[in-house]
Amino acid sequence: MVNYKDLGLVNTREMFAKAIKGGYAIPAFNFNNMEQLQAIVKAAAETKSPVILQVSKGARNYANGTLLRYLAEGAVAYAKELGWEKPQIVLHLDHGDSFETCKSCIDSGFSSVMIDGSALPYEENIALTKKVVDYAHQFDVTVEAELGVLAGVEDEVAAEESHYTKPEEVIDFSTRTGCDSLAISIGTSHGAYKFKPEQCTRDPKTGRLVPPPLAFDVLDAVMEKLPGFPIVLHGSSSVPQEYVDMINKYGGKLPDAVGIPEEQLRKAAKSAVCKINIDSDSRLAFTAAVRKVLAEKPAEFDPRKYCGPARDLMEELYKHKIINVLGSDGKAQ
Ligand SMILES: [Zn+2]
Repeated sequence: MVNYKDLGLVNTREMFAKAIKGGYAIPAFNFNNMEQLQAIVKAAAETKSPVILQVSKGARNYANGTLLRYLAEGAVAYAKELGWEKPQIVLHLDHGDSFETCKSCIDSGFSSVMIDGSALPYEENIALTKKVVDYAHQFDVTVEAELGVLAGVEDEVAAEESHYTKPEEVIDFSTRTGCDSLAISIGTSHGAYKFKPEQCTRDPKTGRLVPPPLAFDVLDAVMEKLPGFPIVLHGSSSVPQEYVDMINKYGGKLPDAVGIPEEQLRKAAKSAVCKINIDSDSRLAFTAAVRKVLAEKPAEFDPRKYCGPARDLMEELYKHKIINVLGSDGKAQ
């Protein structure tokens, strides 16, 4: 049993309360490898932003759960080395699919877990979430739950059809489960293809897809039922066109990839939405940089020569999100 506090990590309780009061949101960035982690920690340390390091089941399978825990411990030490005296870093399980997965993460040093029972019938979602909460709270680990279903594909999480969170359920759900935060569905979606072209309109000038707006009326209704309760948005990448264009220019093929416009996320960050998940955007930045180097220098075979630029581009992206979208810079001095 490893307690996250011994690793220098923190849970989400205090940072969410501050974020709601302060009208900003905490970035939750997924990581699978060292370069991504370096970029996240550097961006957070330089902007003094609290940050959530997210690990999906796919990431644990890819990078090994034990190694990821040591990487997170290393992240705290690295942040201090970068001059961030009191790093506010959370290690969070993204889309935990069972009590056992959540327990194994809690036992190995995670400070926060998500139990995703959103595909289950309502009462079963409540029972599973409560079981995880009862275990996690013994160790002061915070728990995110989900109500409503997001469309899109993310590692092993996939749904064809989305349905919005029902505001009339949120009081009952949060009271009976004791969860610390709630992921809701208001039109965000997993992956780089968040919307089908037929759901969008086209910008007559650029020919690019314009996605349908988020359902802020659903968010407002949830906030009215649960004033001050931490709300989480998944699937909130914006799919920057510059990366998509770079990928396509250097031999990739991502036609009509589309994400959530940043001005809508900015608006959400000012509300009770206090955690915004961003994964696809860093995947796009990584891939765009690697493709560019390999296309321009076909003789290159040192991974540091293309993973290094990929890391730099991801760092730039993370800083942009922190400063210009979430507003969390300077909140963890
Ligand atoms: Zn998600």
